[in-house]
Amino acid sequence: MKITDRIGGDQPVFSVEFMPPKDDAGEAELWRAIRRLEPLDPAFASVTYGAGGSSRDRTVRTTGRIASDTTLVAMAHLTAVSHSVAELRHVIGEYAAAGIRNVLAVRGDPPGDPLGEWVAHPEGLMYADELVSLVRSLGDFCVGVAAFPYGHPRSPDEDSDLQRLVAKVRAGADFAITQLFLEPDGFLRLRDRLAAAGCEVPLLPGIMPLTTMRTLHRGPELSGAPLPPGLAEGLERYADDPKAFREAGMDLTTELCARLLAEGVGGLHFYTFNRSTATTELVQRLGLGARRRAVVA
Ligand SMILES: Cc1cc2nc3c(=O)[nH]c(=O)nc-3n(C[C@H](O)[C@H](O)[C@H](O)COP(=O)(O)OP(=O)(O)OC[C@H]3O[C@@H](n4cnc5c(N)ncnc54)[C@H](O)[C@@H]3O)c2cc1C
Repeated sequence: MKITDRIGGDQPVFSVEFMPPKDDAGEAELWRAIRRLEPLDPAFASVTYGAGGSSRDRTVRTTGRIASDTTLVAMAHLTAVSHSVAELRHVIGEYAAAGIRNVLAVRGDPPGDPLGEWVAHPEGLMYADELVSLVRSLGDFCVGVAAFPYGHPRSPDEDSDLQRLVAKVRAGADFAITQLFLEPDGFLRLRDRLAAAGCEVPLLPGIMPLTTMRTLHRGPELSGAPLPPGLAEGLERYADDPKAFREAGMDLTTELCARLLAEGVGGLHFYTFNRSTATTELVQRLGLGARRRAVVA
């Protein structure tokens, strides 16, 4: 099943993102999370694509297993980092063979330093819109792309960033998922500007549950989204009390999600870090997932 068949309906949905596990213990933890989230009926489950060979094999394996062994719609991420076009074709072929019909086509960051110089493979691709075209040319895939509510860190300004997103949609992207952010304004502005540019594809907000001090600071560092001063001050007072921090952080994340849903957002995409507890709690607080549909039915 394609992701576009699962998003954009009358009821808002949620989706979950995992990382390929590094070892057996990580694999067991990931599958515990998947099995706990599965009954909540996420619209889809995605698996990120890493920089190295073995991690890349684990993406193919994990996404394939989600497609074959669970009731979930699976999406594999794919990046252009260190790949020739021939290698990219091969990975896309592996996805198809594993029954995966949904691909998130992102350029990826230079290995080691995400903000280091980007060097394309000599026989590879330069930008994500080319990867979108490649995936689309190889089969009947549903393709998602990345979007940045505050602009990609390498973009000179929000206007040129928007034009790059529009180019990815014109290349064939069916939907976009945003980088994480902590207050809704940038996301809502981007949604309006994308629609004004004539792109009607669903834009799903990427949500990182604020459960620890590390998530509070690391998120904005990696994403380029600002850390709202009021929010930081409010949470930093719990720096020495992890339990109180988590409670306050989860309240703030719930407020952010509720505001987005009130603004008509059709789906929330949760960065799970291969855990299930925070996502489950948010889904239940917001009345999303299987319980909501059961109540409506
Ligand atoms: C939801 C989501 C999931 C992600 N999953 C992964 C993952 O699994 N693995 C991973 O390694 N990374 C992942 N990333 C991170 C992503 O790879 C990086 O943010 C990367 O730096 C940008 O990827 P992109 O697809 O937006 O690139 P692009 O759209 O190619 O943009 C990269 C930069 O180039 C600029 N640009 C684009 N086209 C042109 C052009 N024609 N001319 C000039 N400039 C241009 C853009 O404005 C931007 O500054 C994810 C990000 C998000 C939001």
